[in-house]
Amino acid sequence: VSGFDRLNNPALNKSLAFSINERQLLGIHGLLPPVVKTQNEQIKHCKLRLDRLNDPLDKYIYLMDLLDFNEKLLYAFVKNHIQETMPLLYTPTVGSACQKWGFIYRRPRGVYITMYDKGHVYEVLKNWPECDVRVIVVTDGERILGLGDQGACGMGIPVGKLALYTAIAGIKPHFCLPITIDVGTNNECHIKDPLYPGIKEKRRTGKEYDELIDEFMKGVVQRWGSHCLVQFEDFGNKNAFRFLEKYRNYFCMFNDDIQGTASVVLAGLIAAMRITKNKLIDHVILFQGAGEANIGIANLCVLAMMTDENITEEKAREKIWMVDSKGLIVKSRNELEIQKRPFAKDHEALKDLLDVVKKVKPTILVGAAAVPGSFTPEILQEMARNNERPIVFALSNPTCKAECTPQQAYEETKGKVIYASGSPFPPVTYNNQTFITGQGNNAYIFPAIGLATMCAGIPNLSDDYFFIAAEALANQVKESYLEEGCIYPPIDMLPECSIKVASTVVEYAYKRGSATVLPEPSDKEKFVRAQLYRTEYEPAIPSFYEVPLGDQKNI
Ligand code: NAP
Ligand code: MN
Repeated sequence: VSGFDRLNNPALNKSLAFSINERQLLGIHGLLPPVVKTQNEQIKHCKLRLDRLNDPLDKYIYLMDLLDFNEKLLYAFVKNHIQETMPLLYTPTVGSACQKWGFIYRRPRGVYITMYDKGHVYEVLKNWPECDVRVIVVTDGERILGLGDQGACGMGIPVGKLALYTAIAGIKPHFCLPITIDVGTNNECHIKDPLYPGIKEKRRTGKEYDELIDEFMKGVVQRWGSHCLVQFEDFGNKNAFRFLEKYRNYFCMFNDDIQGTASVVLAGLIAAMRITKNKLIDHVILFQGAGEANIGIANLCVLAMMTDENITEEKAREKIWMVDSKGLIVKSRNELEIQKRPFAKDHEALKDLLDVVKKVKPTILVGAAAVPGSFTPEILQEMARNNERPIVFALSNPTCKAECTPQQAYEETKGKVIYASGSPFPPVTYNNQTFITGQGNNAYIFPAIGLATMCAGIPNLSDDYFFIAAEALANQVKESYLEEGCIYPPIDMLPECSIKVASTVVEYAYKRGSATVLPEPSDKEKFVRAQLYRTEYEPAIPSFYEVPLGDQKNI
C-alpha cells in the first residue's frame, strides 16, 4: 500500500500517530499537521470529542465514523471506555440507530442479501473481499431488541455485536462479518419512510424464505468453510427456534437470543446462589414471557439441574413455571408451541402475573416479555413477602422496555432484592447505601463463545458449552461485587472475563474431544491470548538492518 492509501485505509491508518520518519518514508510528510501523537493522547482526544456530544445517537455516529477512519483507535478507545461506549454500540442506543439506520447511513458495512438474490447468494458472499471470515452475525431484522420489525435497518445489531467481538474478545476485525437478510418488513413506518434503505415490501415467509436461509448457510460454508461461526441474532421468535433446531447439528452456529441469553442469565443465577446460599434445585423460577430469551434460559436451567443433581428432565422442569401473552402456561391449553409444551403445568389457568406470583410463590422472577413496567410494586412486594432474598431479573431491552428499574426493585422489596437488568441502569441509592446492579448482558458470553469456537475449532456448539461458559462467568464474580449488589463482574472487566471464559470453554472442548485445532495446546489461556487482536499500532515502515555481502572484489 502506498503511504497515501494508508491514510485512507481504516485498518492501517494511524492518523497523527505516524512518526515523522514514517511520514517521510511513506511520502505523506506534510499531508498531516506537524504534530505527532501517541495513541493514548489520541484516546483522550476521542473522549473530548465524544463528551461534547449530547445525543447518544450522535455519539454512536461519531464512533462509527471513527471505525471507518481509524480502526485501531476506535477499538483502543472502546476498550478503554467500555462502560461508556457499550451502551452506544449496543443496547440501548443501537436500538435508535436501527430505527434511523437509513437516515444515519454513511458508509456501507457488511453484506445485505435480499430475496431477489435467491440463486445468487454465493456470488453476493464472494463480493466480500475477505477470504478468511471466522465469525458472522446475521439478522433478518424481524425482532430487533424489543423494538419489533426493523427490516434492513436491523443491520445495526450485527454491526454492533461484531464491534464487541473485537473490542471485548479481541477477534480481529477482518475475521468478522455482519450480514442482514432483507426479506422485506412489516413495519409500516419504514415502508413509508423515503430514507428506508431496504426492500419496501411485506416480509416474505414460508418456503421461499426458508430456501434463502438454506442457501445462505450453504453459501457461508462454501465461501469460508464449515468452521466459520454463524451467530443468529434478533430473528422473529418462530424462525429463531426453527433455524436453531434445523442447523445446530450440521453447522457451526448458535442463536444468541436463545443460547447466549440463557448462558448469561444462568451465570447470574449461579452467582446469586452464593448470596441465597442454596442451589438452583432449591428454587422456584417464574418466567414472564416464553419467547427466545426465557425458553432458552429455562432449558439451560434444566440442563444445569440435571447435571448438578443427577435428576431427570421432568424433575428439573417441575421447578420452572412460565407465563406468556395468554397467561400461565398450563396443560389444558389447546395449541401450545412445541418449545413451550415441556413446561406446561397441571394447574388452573391464570391470566394475571400478580395472581401467578401469589400462587406459584417463585423465588426467582425473570422478565423477558418486553412489557414495560410489568413488575408492579404489588408483584415486587409479594416477592419480598415470600423470600428473604428474592431474585428479580428485568431483562427486556432497551431501557424503556424494562419490567422495573433497579430503584423500584430496591424500594418495593425494602432492599431485599437481588436484581439484574438487560439494559444498563445507573447505581441505586437505598437506605444511604449505594448499589451497583448487574447487567445480564449477552456481551459477557457471545464474544467469549466466539473466541473459544475460533481458537479450538469447535465444529458444533451444543448447549453444554453454554453451561460451561455460565459457570466460568459466575466464577469471575468476586465477593466484593456481590456485596455491592452486583451478580456480574463490572462491565470494565469484560475483556479480561471473556478471555477467562473463552479459555475455560477451550479447555472443555479439548476434554470433550471436540476441538479440531491440533496439536492440543498445553496452556489454554496462553494459547487464547496469543490470538488476540492488538490495538497498539504496528510500525508503518519495515526495520532496517545490515546485510554483509562479503568480499565482492574478485568478481
Ligand atoms: P420473543 O421471542 O418475541 O418472546 C416474547 C415473549 O413474551 C413471548 O413468549 C410472548 O408471548 C411474551 N409476552 C408478550 N406479551 C406478554 C404479556 N403481556 N405477558 C406475558 N408475556 C408476554 O422475544 P425474546 O427474544 O424472548 O425477547 C424478549 C425481550 O427480552 C426483548 O425485550 C429483548 O430485548 C429482551 N432480551 C434481553 C436479553 C438480555 O438482557 N440479555 C437477551 C435477549 C432478549 P407469546 O409467546 O404468547 O407471544
Ligand atoms: Mn439479540
